[in-house]
Amino acid sequence: MARIDLDNIRHAYRPDPQSDDDYALKRVHHTFVDGGAYALLGPSGCGKTTLLNIISGLLRPSEGQILFNGNDVTDLPTEARNIAQVFQFPVVYDTMTVYENLAFPLRNRGVSEDIVDKRVREIITMIGLEERAKRKAQGLTADEKQKISLGRGLARADVNAILFDEPLTVIDPHMKWELRTQLKELHRRFGYTMVYVTHDQTEALTFADNVVVMYEGEIVQIGTPEELFERPTHTFVGYFIGSPGMNLLPVEVSGSSARMGQTVIELPSAPSQQSGKLELGIRPEFVSVGRSGYPVKVDKVEDIGRRKIVRARLEGQEIAAIVDEDAEIPAEAHVSFDQTHLNLYSNSWRVEMHGEAGHGA
Ligand code: ADP
Ligand code: MG
Repeated sequence: MARIDLDNIRHAYRPDPQSDDDYALKRVHHTFVDGGAYALLGPSGCGKTTLLNIISGLLRPSEGQILFNGNDVTDLPTEARNIAQVFQFPVVYDTMTVYENLAFPLRNRGVSEDIVDKRVREIITMIGLEERAKRKAQGLTADEKQKISLGRGLARADVNAILFDEPLTVIDPHMKWELRTQLKELHRRFGYTMVYVTHDQTEALTFADNVVVMYEGEIVQIGTPEELFERPTHTFVGYFIGSPGMNLLPVEVSGSSARMGQTVIELPSAPSQQSGKLELGIRPEFVSVGRSGYPVKVDKVEDIGRRKIVRARLEGQEIAAIVDEDAEIPAEAHVSFDQTHLNLYSNSWRVEMHGEAGHGA
């Protein structure tokens, strides 16, 4: 397994890129530590597959270098990088049996037959295809074929890293959960360096200890699920993680007060920066609804099991609150905020409040 350094990577698919907008990856500068389990999370089109293909060598970046354990591999082909990659859709040899498909990467490397057999049997059990072992891949369902692809990615123990590109897209929901749990378990047992691409926050947050959030060709935050929830460094993270996402209110700031129309909200302290487009961020979990605070107009209340989402407007701005199912919503409703969970953003990036412990960007 390897430590992977991405050193100032940029990539444009078009030949003569002029501005940042021409780059599918604007700038990625990041290290995947040896043995780490990472989820790469972001919406469709943000550059996840591009980044994965740059790591595996299917794509050469327009700028920057890739290092495996300190060695420059930027110009090495995929075969020389010793990477296992599992794609979104199945890649299997139709004329081979399930067993042969799984044995292929091992036999290819000259692994002895008894080790091949032991390993293939383990993997067949893991992906739940014991009864299909001798069947040709040809007649299998897309779901079963994808399990073979996944198994093939896991067959070799000596790879530098295993890359997964939305591997569970064609897998049925129940099996998704099971396979993800098994991947996590494999990581615990063998300490593989794993990068798992997904656009699904639940998948990312359950698989990885470190979630790398991408947006428009850039990494906007790397953190534990808790950090992404508590302190989103970019408004996109606030919006994308959580359901509903973080409330964002346009404000003007003076000293330690934020103002929106007639509403003045006290910040925990004066922010370090007060210029640019300023927005106050507060997650619906930290908004309470009652008789005191700032007056709002309630638009609707949605039942979500043991909790309710209150959708309201404060100074005409939409605001959501999550409250207990039995919480009373008064006719003249007011909202109040948990001050310790207020975030301030300038041009979409989080601003430190004075006196706040440094959380280096
Ligand atoms: P994701 O995997 O996050 O959905 P991609 O890495 O596939 O995103 O794509 C990032 C951007 O690069 C998108 O705007 C996409 O349209 C563009 N792109 C991807 N592949 C190609 C290609 N082969 N040629 C030109 N543009 C591409
Ligand atoms: Mg993709």
